[in-house]
Amino acid sequence: MKKLYFIAGSQDLYGEAVLRQVAKDAKDIADFLNGQLAPAVGVEYAATVRDSDEAEDMLVKASADKDCVGVICWMHTFSPAKMWIRGLQALKKPLLHLHTQHNEKLPYETIDMDFMNLNQSAHGDREFGFICTRLGVKREVVVGYYKHPETVEAIRKFADVATALNFSHGMKVAMFGNNMRDVAVTDGDRVESEIRYGWNVNYYAVGDLVSLVNSVTEEETDKKMAQYAAKYTMATDNIASVREQARYEIALEKFIEKERVGAFTDTFQDLYGLRQLPGLAVQDIMASGIGFGPEGDYKTSALMAVMCKMAENRKGATAFMEDYTYELTPGEEKELAAHMLEVSPVFAANKPEIQVHPLGIGGKEDPARLVFDGIEGDAIAVSMVDMGTHFRLVCAKIQLIKQPKPMPALPVARLMWKILPDFKTGAAAWIYAGGAHHAVVSTALTVEDMKLFARLTDIEIIVIDENTRL
Ligand code: MN
Repeated sequence: MKKLYFIAGSQDLYGEAVLRQVAKDAKDIADFLNGQLAPAVGVEYAATVRDSDEAEDMLVKASADKDCVGVICWMHTFSPAKMWIRGLQALKKPLLHLHTQHNEKLPYETIDMDFMNLNQSAHGDREFGFICTRLGVKREVVVGYYKHPETVEAIRKFADVATALNFSHGMKVAMFGNNMRDVAVTDGDRVESEIRYGWNVNYYAVGDLVSLVNSVTEEETDKKMAQYAAKYTMATDNIASVREQARYEIALEKFIEKERVGAFTDTFQDLYGLRQLPGLAVQDIMASGIGFGPEGDYKTSALMAVMCKMAENRKGATAFMEDYTYELTPGEEKELAAHMLEVSPVFAANKPEIQVHPLGIGGKEDPARLVFDGIEGDAIAVSMVDMGTHFRLVCAKIQLIKQPKPMPALPVARLMWKILPDFKTGAAAWIYAGGAHHAVVSTALTVEDMKLFARLTDIEIIVIDENTRL
């Protein structure tokens, strides 16, 4: 299980009895949090550190431990912060500074100087906060009694983001074909992506996938068709087209497992040897949390996988979406989002139908795809763009709405939403910020999650919400 190290800070001045009490109280807090956060992540009392060597040893150990996704530090007593400098300089894992106490209430009747010296996080945590700020350590500060539900929730959110970052570092992203010719916003610096996020982004020939498709057996295809029948409504007589997509999905699954890939892209400009653009196949795979970006959009694909990991223990839907077209009646403006085929069924409000229709682009056979109406609810849309000097996240609050009327002639799955704070402000802000037409939409994650992600990875984030003014 992935875990967070819980480290208490102290010093030598107080004597062994106080240090034993600090260690006992710190273990109490760690054990309580462990019970609250399991099974998503463990919280392990690691040490009470008293000087530079111990602080450095523990933060180096946390940095090297592959199961450790982050570190929680808490100063039960005063802990002179020069002792943290070397350790914090060596720390490679996300840091949560927990500003709490072992006691909730002040014991007015009995409080004396011994109690004050033992329980002085108000004092010690300010000293620790200063050195973090002085060193420029990107961290989360959570304030509150550790048993309060809001405190636990804030730690849980940090754990979700930290777990996603741990997953991100080392994730492989496969590009079948390259970026769609001439498209700017989907392109990016793959070397910088690996330095910043750990995304190992590599090109694969679509022929590598075609050879896997050609080796899929009828028996494997039958099994996949049975899975489709259990989840979706077969609304086509063109079963051969659906079986073709089943073969693509089986081949993609084999490829993903063999290459240990967390996210992938394809492009309709490079489908040599495939008779259809993968539609149903990609849609069904996206629902499992594997990242996908069309037209070679590796950034959206990888971001989707990371956001799915972040949302793994939450309710809600997370996947790639594309801005498409608008309703512009004044006061009733709405956006209709979809894609040529690849909309994840996690967004389905009704049981998805498998349909087969011609595709007006790419010159391939009619592809099978899932068609459904979209869910309602509060969501965020997140786009990552490469500004040349840095990556930028554009994160907009949106409101997913029920489509006002049926769209019987539209052969793709769709979501509709309202832009905040209002259509003109929100859309203009997105465009000024350089946000892409591809985004990851999530009803499980919030602006606060993405702000923390941006802070911990030290990149820029532009938020568009109910308070946005141009
Ligand atoms: Mn697109």
